[in-house]
Amino acid sequence: MATLDERRIEEIVSRVLERLGAGPSAAPGRPAVQAPAARKGPDIPRGTNGVYADADAAVKAARRAFETVLATPVETRRKMIEGMRACARSNNELLARYAVEETGLGRYEDKLNKLLLVANKTPGTEILRPQAYTGDDGLMLTEHAPYGVILAITPTTNPTETILCNAIGMIAAGNAVVFNVHPSAGRTCNWFVHLLNEAIQAAGGPRDLIVSIEKPTIESAQALMTHPGIRVVVVTGGPAVVKQAMASGKRCIGAGPGNPPAVVDETANLGKAADAIVRGASLDNNIVCIAEKEVVAVDAIASDLIRELKRQPVLWLDAKQTKALESVVLEGDHVNKAWIGKDAGLIAAQIGLGGHGHDLRLIMCEADEQHPFVQHELLMPVIPLVRVRDTADAIAAAVRIEHGFHHTATMHSLNIDHMAAMARVCNASIFVKNDASYAGLGMGGEGYTSFTIASPTGEGLTTALHFTRERRCTLKEAFRFV
Ligand code: NAD
Repeated sequence: MATLDERRIEEIVSRVLERLGAGPSAAPGRPAVQAPAARKGPDIPRGTNGVYADADAAVKAARRAFETVLATPVETRRKMIEGMRACARSNNELLARYAVEETGLGRYEDKLNKLLLVANKTPGTEILRPQAYTGDDGLMLTEHAPYGVILAITPTTNPTETILCNAIGMIAAGNAVVFNVHPSAGRTCNWFVHLLNEAIQAAGGPRDLIVSIEKPTIESAQALMTHPGIRVVVVTGGPAVVKQAMASGKRCIGAGPGNPPAVVDETANLGKAADAIVRGASLDNNIVCIAEKEVVAVDAIASDLIRELKRQPVLWLDAKQTKALESVVLEGDHVNKAWIGKDAGLIAAQIGLGGHGHDLRLIMCEADEQHPFVQHELLMPVIPLVRVRDTADAIAAAVRIEHGFHHTATMHSLNIDHMAAMARVCNASIFVKNDASYAGLGMGGEGYTSFTIASPTGEGLTTALHFTRERRCTLKEAFRFV
């Protein structure tokens, strides 16, 4: 591996910036075709513990719980969080099945791994460390204090994972939380809220520390955003909900969309890169916001990379098949939502390439930068590869394709200058080098996890720390020991 060379990095960065001068043009429209067959409704138990029909009653209940928890020992809070982790682990199989059946998105076996990751690696109370200064004037202490009642609006793509992640972080920080979940995951989420409340109460915690709305809607989400009992609004979803939350007049933590590129340069280990890209891009049928959504490969290795990708559980399309796929997964210039999160085998069957089972992880093809497969966050296992001249072109294309979300990017390279240059220019909340994107969530990568990655408001991978306000405690003279 080459050593860091500041001059070389600067050179690549300035070439990238130069090439970023030209933006992408609008993508052409495509006709629509049939949607997948309607699903049979799942048999999900009705959540009642902490689940409220009325939004105002939910906020008031959460407020009462917050006031109770203020007087509860931190040790009890720690036990509540342990109980919530254990609850998720012991109900994982059922929750994964309910989530797949109710939302119609993703892969059961991947959902098991996602929720387990959240249960095991979401930081709890241990991340909240007070800071102390001492001197001739005495002691100054900065403590992390709760806000009160937080509103959490959650997506359909990681329904149970976001609930567990937000609940652990918000409760570790001493808050209560009101969930307005995605309507199409309502029953699974309300059942999970019910189970988590049982776990909290069994650990000695109060009722209603987590509450949810029985029939959540966009209207109930918007009403809650401006409810006087809500102190902070935390949203995880697409651009519309982030925009709405930012206009709420409340403190807002906004975790918005991404369109993560995977750049592959001429120094990459192509076998490893292909394996990592397919693992990352196919996670839960690509509905995860951090999952690779397109590959940008330099011309010198693009054909070799394609050869490696074909060794993976990937169906590679030729130009004619790609055209046929456009008419299935696009509606005009937009994504046909009916195919979001569906299995690659099911999508392939729509263009006459049947016979692929659940083991097929991805459909891939070559496309130019302006193609809608590249420009849009498709949220399905359809991944285009864009061929470019050199590394500077690859980084510039990746930055354009990411649309300034600053969410997630990955790179496969053994050249440290290339990696440093891309890190500087893409300025993403998560930048993974030489592994699948999900390593950046701590799945096979170092560090803690979070399923609320706040790029628009800048918190990155949110934890309990972001759900606290700082309070200073000053004590004159007495506490200087040394
Ligand atoms: P979505 O935006 O359709 O819905 C998210 C939540 O916001 C839902 O609860 C929905 O009811 C609510 N909502 C939507 N529009 C609203 C509005 N105008 N006012 C009030 N509430 C509104 O997103 P989704 O389909 O559930 O999830 C996929 C999207 O979320 C993708 O864009 C993905 O990248 C993004 N996402 C981001 C993160 C992250 O951490 N940054 C995590 C998961 C998903």
